[in-house]
Amino acid sequence: MAPAKTLRPKRNARKVVQAFLSVPSSAQSNSNWIARKSRGLQILQVPAFNKLPWLIHGFSSRPGGVSPLDGEEVLNLGFTDWDPRENVLENRRRFQSALGATDLQLISLKQIHSDVIHLFEAAPAEPCRGDASATNRPGLLLGVQTADCVPILLVDPKDRAIAAIHAGWRGTLARIAVKAIGQMQMHFGTRPADLLAAIGPAIGGCCYEVGTEVAIQFHSQFANAPEWFDELRTGDEPNPVQWLNMMPPGHQPPPKNVLLDLKKANRAQLLAAGLRPQNIFVSDLCTACRPDLLFSYRKQGPQSGRILSVIGLRPL
Ligand SMILES: [Zn+2]
Repeated sequence: MAPAKTLRPKRNARKVVQAFLSVPSSAQSNSNWIARKSRGLQILQVPAFNKLPWLIHGFSSRPGGVSPLDGEEVLNLGFTDWDPRENVLENRRRFQSALGATDLQLISLKQIHSDVIHLFEAAPAEPCRGDASATNRPGLLLGVQTADCVPILLVDPKDRAIAAIHAGWRGTLARIAVKAIGQMQMHFGTRPADLLAAIGPAIGGCCYEVGTEVAIQFHSQFANAPEWFDELRTGDEPNPVQWLNMMPPGHQPPPKNVLLDLKKANRAQLLAAGLRPQNIFVSDLCTACRPDLLFSYRKQGPQSGRILSVIGLRPL
């Protein structure tokens, strides 16, 4: 157990590493994320969230931990077939300790790629099935596990309410982030213009190949969907994105894969829900491009680990 004095690490004691974080290259990334090195772990954070003294947040990364994977010991924070449960529990203890969150109760979900959102007033006895959680109760640490899908953390600084969201392509298609904001409005009086959002490391538009059937579903749901897809550059023609845009009614495009940028799609949904662009912080990191730092189910398959993205209100 960590000694009590480590529960609130001094700000100047934190080591900040920015070496591996690329400089934001587009308007998508107004972020300036930091990587805080703490107890052998690297925790990705958003400075705007760190400015709120009553808030704890962080996105985990691969290094550190006790789970054996490809000849290394990694910080796998999700329960998977290849990793004994006690490893994951020890990794979670280390992550919470590095965050200074040992006095918060972690609530993770049994994620099912749904749009089910849970409101918590206390930690449940058993993990709930769903893909987002929200609370305004101090002492709870809301978490989502991912290995390519998009983790999103929301904080309402005015009403001191928070949410953690897991958005894969199904959750994104079902607008889970927008629905979570709706729950926060309804239950906590949140105004979307006040919200800060962190869209964490996930598979990028550089690597996330999906079939045209997925693209068709997005195109039928979102007017700005064409902005989220890109041609998969195999040298073949025609460009399937163009195909989708000029598809005559009743005609199917050729079965060809395209690239989907899930972070972009979720950012667009947050903007449509009323968030201010300057309050949305998008990580540039792609899980598939950075196997040294993150986990990718697409790249590593069932032998992949999971990162955990958490947010909590400090106990009073
Ligand atoms: Zn990539």
